[in-house]
Amino acid sequence: MATVIHWFRRDLRLLDNTALTEATRQADQVVGLFILDPKLIEAPRVCQARLAFMYSSLADLSARLAKRGGRLIVREGEPVAELRKAVEELNAGALYFNRDYTSYARKRDAEVEAGLADLTKIRTFKDLVIFEKAELLTDGGSPYTVFTPYKKRWLGRIGDSVATRLDPEYASLKLTDASALEMVSLPIPAIPAGYEDAFFMPAGEESGRKRLAHFAGALSAKEDAHHPPIEDYAEQRNFPAEEGTSRLSAFLRFGALSPRQCYRAAVNARELASRVAQQDGCDAWIGELIWRDFYYQIMWNFPQVARQSFQARYSQLKWADNAEHFQAWCEGQTGFPIVDAGMRQLKAINWMHNRLRMITASFFTKDLLLDWRLGERYFWQMLVDGDQPSNNGGWQWSASTGTDAQPYFRIFNPTSQGQKFDPTGAFVRRWVPELAKVPDKYIHEPSTMPRALQEHLGVIIGRDYPLPLVDHKLAREKALLAYKI
Ligand code: FAD
Repeated sequence: MATVIHWFRRDLRLLDNTALTEATRQADQVVGLFILDPKLIEAPRVCQARLAFMYSSLADLSARLAKRGGRLIVREGEPVAELRKAVEELNAGALYFNRDYTSYARKRDAEVEAGLADLTKIRTFKDLVIFEKAELLTDGGSPYTVFTPYKKRWLGRIGDSVATRLDPEYASLKLTDASALEMVSLPIPAIPAGYEDAFFMPAGEESGRKRLAHFAGALSAKEDAHHPPIEDYAEQRNFPAEEGTSRLSAFLRFGALSPRQCYRAAVNARELASRVAQQDGCDAWIGELIWRDFYYQIMWNFPQVARQSFQARYSQLKWADNAEHFQAWCEGQTGFPIVDAGMRQLKAINWMHNRLRMITASFFTKDLLLDWRLGERYFWQMLVDGDQPSNNGGWQWSASTGTDAQPYFRIFNPTSQGQKFDPTGAFVRRWVPELAKVPDKYIHEPSTMPRALQEHLGVIIGRDYPLPLVDHKLAREKALLAYKI
């Protein structure tokens, strides 16, 4: 085949990119195309941090292609129309892309397949996840809805599924095409103001690989080996004050890294780890990659979860209607320090530690009895790694409405969660500076501080920091009643 198009979407990298590798194997020339889809980039609630991450990753991708004599063609418009135009301009023999499983992508890709069928061959590949769709089924032939047996099956099947297709020199990529050099390409949009040096910048493949190498150890003999944080992951991952997790979620979200690269890095680290505790760290991290796959297959097999509770009975649950509570939660002004610290971290850096996502989502749905869909939408607007399957899965887990969710009667106590996972209050002090001087004893319950101490410290609860928005004990009882459907 002479020329084919590789349509980049959520696979903004050259290395270990399934469709791209396959395209270069099958065709003489491969042209890389990215379409700026107005439905996504101009959506009213689009997250600017996510756009920044995407544009930075595209710039990196474009530079990598250019280094190899190739070129990234950028177009803007409705995908079917833009793809038709590009196929016609290049007389492309096929369109290659990696599959995506979210609600929007599913609809769009069905339209693309139908809309281009008369024009060219379409070849799609699994790349975004390790196991997709209905690849792993129960013995009864149905999709898994419980995590533990899914994980067991996943681990049982993984041996032969992650072929080592690492090609560090990109030896087989043939990314130049004379006709592509003539093609019109839009510039990659500028990074939204204020996000140039954001927490996750620079994005892109190079940065993702470096971060993975730092977290999980050297990826190749050329890179330095060191004591990688993955070895402490099992112990550290629940403490938001520590840098105990990889912070790779946005890189996985946009495919600057593949889940296979992450899995392999973890397996390599496990082989090098000398102590059982270190191996446990690697296993626990692999477990999180499995959660990611789990939620993707849930989204694919039960697409209705995008709009409704997985457990149908909860569609009758009477959620509260309280705009003030919603606003206080968004602003990190609930009077529960660990909740507020998490929400302020989200607002400041567009990322939140997993333990805090669980605490804040639990507080939202159980203490405030607000509809999980509102919280999910707010996270979607804010998270640099906002990804529908994991966001929806995390929210439905926390709200106890999802597959294999936290049982409804297990309600996090936000004060004791803070005491347990931020024992010295270091994280709270970082994000809620008005509590910086509060002694450890009161840091998670500042409203219990004696008045004289409040005055002495110059922090009056109810004036400088809010009183608790609800009485947790009463809220808990209310939630238990509401959930008894
Ligand atoms: P690590 O702990 O280093 O984990 C490694 C990778 O595994 C992550 O990068 C991520 O890709 C995956 N992962 C980890 N935990 C989970 C999980 N519970 N479910 C699915 N995948 C996981 N993750 C997102 O990527 N996007 C979201 O929009 C998102 N929304 C969430 C909303 C709620 C309410 C909750 C409770 C969790 C959500 N998560 C989401 C999952 C998790 O919080 C993040 O993936 C994690 O905090 C990212 O940080 P990390 O890269 O340091 O993770």
